[in-house]
Amino acid sequence: MTDAVRRVGYLKRILERCVLCPQMCRTDRTAGEKGFCRLSAEMVMNSALPHHGEEPSLSGSRGAGTIFFSSCNLRCVYCQNYQISHSPAGLTVSEEALALIMLELEALGCHNVEPVTPTPHLPGIMAALLIAREKGLRLPFVFNCGGYERETIIRLLDGLVDIYLPDFKYGLDEAGRCFSGALAYPRHALASLREMVRQVGDTLEIEDGVAKKGILVRHLVLPGQTDNSLAVLRAIRENISPFVPLSLMAQYTPIPAVTNHPLLGRRVTRGEYERVVNAALDLGFEELYTQEVDDRALAPDFRRESPFVWEENGEFINRR
Ligand code: SF4
Repeated sequence: MTDAVRRVGYLKRILERCVLCPQMCRTDRTAGEKGFCRLSAEMVMNSALPHHGEEPSLSGSRGAGTIFFSSCNLRCVYCQNYQISHSPAGLTVSEEALALIMLELEALGCHNVEPVTPTPHLPGIMAALLIAREKGLRLPFVFNCGGYERETIIRLLDGLVDIYLPDFKYGLDEAGRCFSGALAYPRHALASLREMVRQVGDTLEIEDGVAKKGILVRHLVLPGQTDNSLAVLRAIRENISPFVPLSLMAQYTPIPAVTNHPLLGRRVTRGEYERVVNAALDLGFEELYTQEVDDRALAPDFRRESPFVWEENGEFINRR
């Protein structure tokens, strides 16, 4: 038995008393119990498709091979993917079927395989990845997560993940608790980010315009929360490295649940966004992906066959 198979076996056993993420529910998901993420042990997915709306080096010319999973270990009141992340509904998928989906995305020409959000489904996803690798999958494996991870779990992924794509949503505890139901978000995000960087380095290696290995940290700027954004930047700069590539996202669009929210019911202003981008530049971050601030609604609609309204990845500007 290889070391990777052993680690996946260990991840599966964790489901019997689930501590896959910092929610630490300790539910027996193998017996059908459900924790904060509302998922039992089965993997549930929404869709798999070439995604052209990621950062340019991830989408490339043929798209990221994105696999959207249902539900999440965070409950962000404003989640831009709320149609699938706030519900455990979807298609139950086996490890073997998921491995075939990964191989199909490769056959379609996608540049990587990118499960979103992998955390609560991790044992099955990693088992599927091993099967797909055995069958010849060569694409980089992208771990696109919400940043609320346990460092000890991330350590088990050493050598299996090619590109880490974590959010770093909150630099302030209070914001994580209020907006996402996540206690001590900054501490967990920082510890897991440190481990990710230990594994893959603090840069994103790009060949012929396409990301092959490394890390890219995303931060969605929220309206009225620039202090939170600045705390994120300081935490990464002071504890990790100024070389970590950052994607600072301006596309926040209020979803129906927060249309009347006193803080979250509007778009981010140009002034707010520029304050965050300028702070990142002042702190010495070397590689930034930024977006234009405009009125376009960029939240996906998973009721459509193609959930994303933008077809080209020109949304992001690489300020390297
Ligand atoms: S993965 Fe789900 S059940 Fe497990 S600790 Fe996290 S929220 Fe709880």
